[in-house]
Amino acid sequence: MSNNTVAAYAAPAPGAPLEKTTITRRELGPHDIRIDIEYAGICHSDIHTVQGDWGERQYPIVPGHEIAGVVTAVGAEVTRYAVGDRAGIGCIVDSCRTCDNCRAGLQQYCTGELGMVGTYAATGRDGEQTQGGYAQAIVVDENYALRIPEGIPLDAAAPLLCAGITLYSPLRHWQAGPGKKVAIVGLGGLGHLGVKLAHAMGAEVTVLSQSLRKKDDGLRLGADHYRATSDPATFEELAGTFDLILNTVSADLDLDAYLGLLRTGGTMVQLGAPEKPQSVSPFALVAQRKSYAGSMIGGIPETQEMLDFCAEHGITAEIELIRAEQVNEAYERVIASDVRYRFVIDTATI
Ligand code: NAP
Ligand code: ZN
Ligand code: ZN
Repeated sequence: MSNNTVAAYAAPAPGAPLEKTTITRRELGPHDIRIDIEYAGICHSDIHTVQGDWGERQYPIVPGHEIAGVVTAVGAEVTRYAVGDRAGIGCIVDSCRTCDNCRAGLQQYCTGELGMVGTYAATGRDGEQTQGGYAQAIVVDENYALRIPEGIPLDAAAPLLCAGITLYSPLRHWQAGPGKKVAIVGLGGLGHLGVKLAHAMGAEVTVLSQSLRKKDDGLRLGADHYRATSDPATFEELAGTFDLILNTVSADLDLDAYLGLLRTGGTMVQLGAPEKPQSVSPFALVAQRKSYAGSMIGGIPETQEMLDFCAEHGITAEIELIRAEQVNEAYERVIASDVRYRFVIDTATI
């Protein structure tokens, strides 16, 4: 095998089990680095994408946008990384670099012609389909890589690259902090990091979960309160409580009921990505000047800020490390909400 041919796990067709394959990474360009991937997290978005929930894609797809590893080669003009550095890649591997959003470090909202190039199942500037992190190595422009601080183990760092930043960015944007009441809906991969991050920012944190099954975990992770959404009393007793609700659920929820939990002027942010449109009654918003908003991952500078924040506050993901051949079983368990709290593939097992 040439150095550019790497072992990977790919979905061959929509809904088909992932299987072992090989893929070819591009030649190292002058601004590229090569990262030997050690760990790759399993995000629910990987599952939505390979199942075709979000529309047609070109197969095979190698998913994975929570990537942690070590730099093994650098292009001639690389300045920010050296061989041996710990490095990560999240959901973005390129963008136009010239639009207002790219210039502001908001590459996830690139409005240029190229748009945000996703780590997998996207078309890169070379016209080739990108392939993600369930693989032994990846080549990426150094400007789209992240530094993983020494204090964070690589396996527990991987999920920060998507799940971590997806919660960090809205917590910062809507100013979670002391004196603010924040609710996290869904204690899964995203939600458990939301609890840790919001707690570290000084907010009063409530988990809104389907049941009290994971209550002990939620409180241990930093939640102040833990309530079951299956209990109608939750919606009565917490009416008008929260400044900010972060909704990580991709199932149909009664959004108006959740909006009722916001205090005057509060915001509910949609992070979970349901297949079908959802509805909100205008009256659920206008009566108390409430907002229903959305947020997608975070830009490269904010992702670095989040990693540094996590190192400073001792925040890592709670993970279940698996071998590559367990990936299909792990997908089933994520779909069944049976994950505590992120599966991470040890890519040495591919
Ligand atoms: P996950 O680990 O599966 O967590 C989702 C949680 O949602 C579950 O743990 C469960 O929490 C809750 N849930 C599941 N089914 C539910 C139902 N029928 N009714 C109510 N609650 C339910 O998934 P994830 O990786 O955190 O991702 C969550 C969603 O965010 C996915 O749609 C993913 O594609 C999306 N996402 C968005 C972004 C973004 O940038 N906006 C980034 C990454 C992922 P409880 O057991 O506590 O109820
Ligand atoms: Zn993700
Ligand atoms: Zn742009």
